[in-house]
Amino acid sequence: MGQISLPQKGMSREEVLNTLKSFKSNDVKWHEGQLFGLIYETGTDVEDLVKEASALFLIENGLNPMAFPSLVKMETEVVSMVKALSGGDDEAVGNLTSGGTESIFMALKAARDWARHTFPKIKEPEMVVPLSAHPAWNKAAHYLGIKIVMTPIKDDFRADVTAMQDAINENTIILGATAVTYPHGMVDPVEEISALAQKHNLWLHVDACLGGLMLPFLKRLGHDIPAYDFSVPGVMSLSADIHKYAYTPKGVSAVMYRNADLRKFQIFAYADWAGGVYATPCLAGGRPGGNIAAAWGVFHYLGEEGFIALAKKTAEATAILIEGINSIPQLYVLGSPDATVFAFGSDEINIYELSTRMADSGWHMEAQQLPPSLHMTVSPVHLAVADKFLDDLRRIIPEVPPADSQELSEQAAMYAMLGTMPDRSMAREFAVEYINNLYRTT
Ligand SMILES: *Cc1c(COP(=O)(O)O)cnc(C)c1O
Repeated sequence: MGQISLPQKGMSREEVLNTLKSFKSNDVKWHEGQLFGLIYETGTDVEDLVKEASALFLIENGLNPMAFPSLVKMETEVVSMVKALSGGDDEAVGNLTSGGTESIFMALKAARDWARHTFPKIKEPEMVVPLSAHPAWNKAAHYLGIKIVMTPIKDDFRADVTAMQDAINENTIILGATAVTYPHGMVDPVEEISALAQKHNLWLHVDACLGGLMLPFLKRLGHDIPAYDFSVPGVMSLSADIHKYAYTPKGVSAVMYRNADLRKFQIFAYADWAGGVYATPCLAGGRPGGNIAAAWGVFHYLGEEGFIALAKKTAEATAILIEGINSIPQLYVLGSPDATVFAFGSDEINIYELSTRMADSGWHMEAQQLPPSLHMTVSPVHLAVADKFLDDLRRIIPEVPPADSQELSEQAAMYAMLGTMPDRSMAREFAVEYINNLYRTT
């Protein structure tokens, strides 16, 4: 096939839309809760609401706030609601970004520039972050020229604060913590990490991308949630994804700061451009208005009661799944997860092979490594299918080869190989090649 060029003549509108729809046929099915990640599905009319709200502002551009004051109004109101849920007071400020990666990037960029300003002697800045942190931290460190020092986590899959303390040196400027870690679903001991940050004058960023719009509602439902937000004094910035547990389409997250003096270090301005004085709060130039409207729409549509009701369904589904999986002799859940995300593994059967066979039955989970496990992001829609999922697990497990089996399907063998390569730079190179080959038409 090779090169695909622009068709000489256009298609009819109907043909375009039908062709686009046909592209979905090979995609994973998710509307009935078959997918445990990537999409946060309520199983209610929230999906229609966010589509309509975002369509209303789909074409508008958030780049110029003077042209579209509507977008500034919606953005500041959404941020205000998220910061109020995150223990922020009147002083706290923030912005909407394109997602968790950009939110973390902006917070770490602000922290780096704050450190340049506050501690000009530090030329080679470092940050200390637990191993369970999301790769967005590593990516930001890579782009921003900050050395990232990863510290071990404890047996309970939470940050080891003593190891973090030991990793601090005269170049350290940032400490990291996560409130609901992606791989295991834990809240790090933010109060202890905050005390460490305050003692050493470090910037503490809390990545609440996953937990930021679930933990506040679990707390209201009486769950025991350790303090992780601006109520902890050393927390300088916090990220919370709206496109996760606030159920909007992808492309919207909040990054927030304890006060506007800290947020100043996030903002970029260039005064000498022929096109005019140019300033943006975050990484993007042009910004889609639709996502901002979707966020505003979902917050007002659900209200606190709606969010609590969805959190309740999600927590119930999580409890059923965790209990069910732990009652299967060959399986165990990793640690005691704090919210609605968890992982499970096995010492007896090959977990990647289990994943492949569950996929044949229509269930999709992300495969994890170190140790091999399967990842479960639970959504409200899963309450209706949790029992069916567990039935299928119990039915399929007897067919799954043992953990050390050499006879694995292609996909399971690839995961096993990548997870056990002793030279991690080889696994890295493999991933670069994979991506480089994927995005081409041949
Ligand atoms: C999802 C996630 C991120 C990254 O967010 P994106 O929206 O995928 O860019 C960062 N941290 C945690 C804990 C996450 O779950």
